[in-house]
Amino acid sequence: MQPTTPRLDLSGTGALPADPAEASRYHRILRTIGVADVLLGLALMAVLLAADWTSGIRNFAVGFAGDGHAAALFVYTTILLLLTKLLSLGPDYYSFLIEHRYRLSNQRLRGWAWDQCKEFGLTFVFGQALVQMLYLLIRLQPQWWWVTCWILFMLLSVLLAQLAPVLLFPLFFRFRSLDDKELTARLTRLSEQAGAKVRGVYEWNLSEKTKKANAALMGLGRTRRIVISDTLLAACNHDEIEAVLAHELGHQVHRHMLKSIAMQGVITFIGFWCLKLAVRWAAFDWKRYDQIDFANLPLIILVATAISLLLLPLMNAYSRFNERQADAYAWQTLGSVKAFCNAMEKLAAQNLSEREPSRWVEILFYSHPAPFRRMQAAVAWATARKA
Ligand SMILES: [Zn+2]
Repeated sequence: MQPTTPRLDLSGTGALPADPAEASRYHRILRTIGVADVLLGLALMAVLLAADWTSGIRNFAVGFAGDGHAAALFVYTTILLLLTKLLSLGPDYYSFLIEHRYRLSNQRLRGWAWDQCKEFGLTFVFGQALVQMLYLLIRLQPQWWWVTCWILFMLLSVLLAQLAPVLLFPLFFRFRSLDDKELTARLTRLSEQAGAKVRGVYEWNLSEKTKKANAALMGLGRTRRIVISDTLLAACNHDEIEAVLAHELGHQVHRHMLKSIAMQGVITFIGFWCLKLAVRWAAFDWKRYDQIDFANLPLIILVATAISLLLLPLMNAYSRFNERQADAYAWQTLGSVKAFCNAMEKLAAQNLSEREPSRWVEILFYSHPAPFRRMQAAVAWATARKA
């Protein structure tokens, strides 16, 4: 017999109705789309390799661009990026429809299409830069390219985390300084208490796209800022918003950003080492693609995607551990869990979250503990403190 989790008594800390059936349906559909999208991408790479169409595309690229290696690589990568985008358009459009079917989206088709173009533009620029860097290094350092690639990759991710709030997010969202002076003062005080150097509190205009709510501490160093979605501001009172920010500050106090970068460093090091093995295997054992032959790119993408998929549950477990630490920081700082639980409950309703997904779903897909578990832990903490 399955042991049943006792219903949580949250009297005085916000009620906890059962998951609406539509929340479970919505998340099941989202997961199916997500898995289908990844599998389609993997299948495309597998087919390109198995049928050796990748060599055909390489020959076309060389014929089109002439002898210049970089130019041919540019043409080849463009074709690969277009194919990938074409294949994921179906799942992407379906997600757009689902968000509307569940009345979560405020975005028109035109706005969505424009976002898709911008996203593709960014993927195109970063993808081309990464691929050019990769094959230049393979040519220059046939033995050690993967180590140099790893170092550059890590430097780029840190730089990107720094620049994204200033350069990338404004491409998709509008931000402005928060009007509410009282709330700004309260949140700034809370940040200072946590020893966080924050440069400003911003209102994030999320309502032009979605009804969902979000808040974050974005950027590193000089670009560090608090952003709160207008949807969150509309739904929660000051106490609840403070609880949400206290959680975000918990990440800062526990240095989760730095730890995550270190963790990512270890994992991508192993990842690049696997890529080296795959590239050498294709050249010397399979005898299909020379190391510097960029027709081996689908193999690199295939291996990299497979490794990230395999490590996803581990990364999610690490993330959930960090989230629990951040939650505990919020309760300790506020000295109460009432506002926290109320905010959890409101956010779960607003975002159509599954409060109690099955344990397996949580282990495989959830980067945050399920709302039910977060509230359960909060109440347990409050009860232990009273005793
Ligand atoms: Zn968090």
